[in-house]
This record gives sequence, C-alpha cells and structure tokens, in this order.
Amino acid sequence: MERLIEGFRRFRASYFRDHGELFADLAQHGQSPHALIVSCCDSRVDPQLLFSTQPGDIFVIRNVANLVPPYDPSSGYHGTSAALEFGVRSLRVKNVVVLGHKHCGGVQALLQQTVRPTGEFIGPWMNIAWPARERAIAAGPPETHQTLCEKEVIRESVYNLRTFPWISEAEAKGEIRIHGWYFDVGRGELLAMNDHGGFDLI
Ligand SMILES: [Zn+2]
Repeated sequence: MERLIEGFRRFRASYFRDHGELFADLAQHGQSPHALIVSCCDSRVDPQLLFSTQPGDIFVIRNVANLVPPYDPSSGYHGTSAALEFGVRSLRVKNVVVLGHKHCGGVQALLQQTVRPTGEFIGPWMNIAWPARERAIAAGPPETHQTLCEKEVIRESVYNLRTFPWISEAEAKGEIRIHGWYFDVGRGELLAMNDHGGFDLI
C-alpha cells in the first residue's frame, strides 16, 4: 500500500505539477478522447504507457483477455458494453482498438479447458472466446495454440464490436474506425490486424 501512496505523492510532485494546465482544462471542459481501447487487465499491458498518451487522450476499457461480448441488450451487468456505449455514443471516439497481447493468462486458462468453462465469473466470461479457441486449435500444432488463440480473440472481439448497431452504423458512415492490435510483451512490438485477418508489424 505504501508503494501506491508514495507513487501518488511522486505523481503529484512531478507529473501533475508539470501538467497543471492540462488537468485544469480537462476538469473544466471535460474529456474528449480520440480513441477507445479495449485492453486486458494484465499488469504488463498498460495502454497509456504503450501509446505515450496524456490524460484525456484515450478512453480505456480493461477486462480479462480484452474481450468484447456480442451485443446483448438483455438485463444484466454489462460493464464492457456500458463503457462501449459511453465511449462511442457520448464521447464519440474516432477509433476503437482491441488490444490483445502475448502471454495472456486468460487465453492460457481457456486453452487448458476441454469443455466450455463454468465457474463463478471468469469461466462464463471466457466463453465469449470459445469460438476463438476452437479456430486456434484447428489452425496449428499445440505449441502454436497460445499465440494463435490470442490473435483469434482479437478477431472475435472485433467481430463482436460490429454486432453493436451503433458501432457498425458509425463505421459505415466513416465516423469510426475499428482496429485489432497485438502487443508482444517480451519484444516490445506492436502488430496490427490487416484486412485479411493477418497481423503486420507496425
Ligand atoms: Zn491478458
């Protein structure tokens, strides 16, 4: 706990002091982020650090394995969908990025399952990525499944983004662009999904 408090004190004494005008402006006029990023909770994948952003630049949704659920307006606690709705419909972000990553623990857990996962929360949540798991397993030998599945999860999330009518409509009108990106933690490399579903180094 002391590390967090000490970290905050350092932030206040340096970053906050150096960017006082920015914080005052954001406090007065509100936020207008240009991108929404759906990232994993993984502590090694911090979008604000990776993209060298300032407060107010990006609207970040973090969940286990950077999953976007399919559009489902039934009752329930749809945290990711609620944040998407706010970012796209209220803040009107110009870009939506699904940011997957190498060595994803959520994907690793999913690959270890032989039947659709159950359990309290993580299991049902990871079921969103079950089709991605099946495609990855069918696509290559076991040693490739982890990386293949991490990329298939990005494809699945990008696919599911377009099931939200106000996202697909905004994309059709050219108001929004959707991207699938993959961060290699060990190499410090970023790859982008191309129009054919493959990934190219940025
Ligand atoms: Zn992860």
